[in-house]
Amino acid sequence: MTVFKMIDDVDLADRFRTRLTRGDKFLIANLNASREAEDKYTVVNCGGYGRVRAFRDYKLYLETVAFPDCPPRPNFRGYPPSAIVRSQVFQLSACNWRCWYCFVDDDRLSAAPRTSTYLSAHELLDLYMAEADCPDIIDLSGGQPDLVPEWTLAVVEECGRRGLLKQIHFWVDDNLSNDFLFRYLSRDQLSRLAGVPTLSRMGCFKGFDEESFTFTTLAPAERFQGQFELAGKIIDAGFRFYGYVTFTTPTTTQLEMRMRQFVDRLQAVHERLPLVTTPLAIKRFSAMIPRLDDDRARSLNHQILAFLIWHEELKRRFPSEYPRLRPDQISLSR
Ligand code: SF4
Repeated sequence: MTVFKMIDDVDLADRFRTRLTRGDKFLIANLNASREAEDKYTVVNCGGYGRVRAFRDYKLYLETVAFPDCPPRPNFRGYPPSAIVRSQVFQLSACNWRCWYCFVDDDRLSAAPRTSTYLSAHELLDLYMAEADCPDIIDLSGGQPDLVPEWTLAVVEECGRRGLLKQIHFWVDDNLSNDFLFRYLSRDQLSRLAGVPTLSRMGCFKGFDEESFTFTTLAPAERFQGQFELAGKIIDAGFRFYGYVTFTTPTTTQLEMRMRQFVDRLQAVHERLPLVTTPLAIKRFSAMIPRLDDDRARSLNHQILAFLIWHEELKRRFPSEYPRLRPDQISLSR
């Protein structure tokens, strides 16, 4: 078994934050000549600073992988349901966790100036609008975009200045690793963001218990519980919130009990949080291949087993809603 060095994710978050902004500019990853660009779903645009993601078959959902003959249950996140959904993704160039399965190249997770450029929201929107047929969803991703939550605010405000606020949907990703959203935005800025009707936030739970969390992120185990606390704060702040979860685990012992406890923890945040949480299928992305060892490769098989237990647990707890309803048909209003 390979022993990996744990990271100090709090220190990393602070250090990356200082390197991610220059005045009104934010460090954006350039995807040209990256391993990520070799993945077939990656369609690079905006001079390398963006990519278009098309959602058609939802094979990134464990449910679709486990039940290939059933119609997928997409999460449209407030976007009008349609057969193909396209999003314009921009990636902030750092993350304070080190998930081995991450599809992003290490240097695009490390605020490295060689593979990133400082761009203002104005410059980013210029690049976006110069594209023919640009998608009407802007996905602010990373890396961990919440290392500088000011980025989301700047992009939304720039869209407002251009009169685009009603026609663009904003998808904001978050690994639920830090509370910078609440630390660095004022109460007024927070409520302005939460009040944008087309904005949704996606928090990704990394693993379903402390063991799978640390195995995945190399961050201290206590940060696992922190994800739930942060999700609760985001929901309480009035954001439209959805969850992803990844089920890569090094061991399968007592899987039923561990999954039950995970669903309990979600429900302690909000009774219906499991219904808006989608288990993701981890695939062999190009950037991940050099990071694989035997345990990690084996965990790719464990995720299906874990999903089947999750599926039975949700059917038992929500017999009239799961799996009949899509996550975006569920309300978390208190
Ligand atoms: S939290 Fe997300 S962006 Fe960060 S390393 Fe993990 S998968 Fe990659």
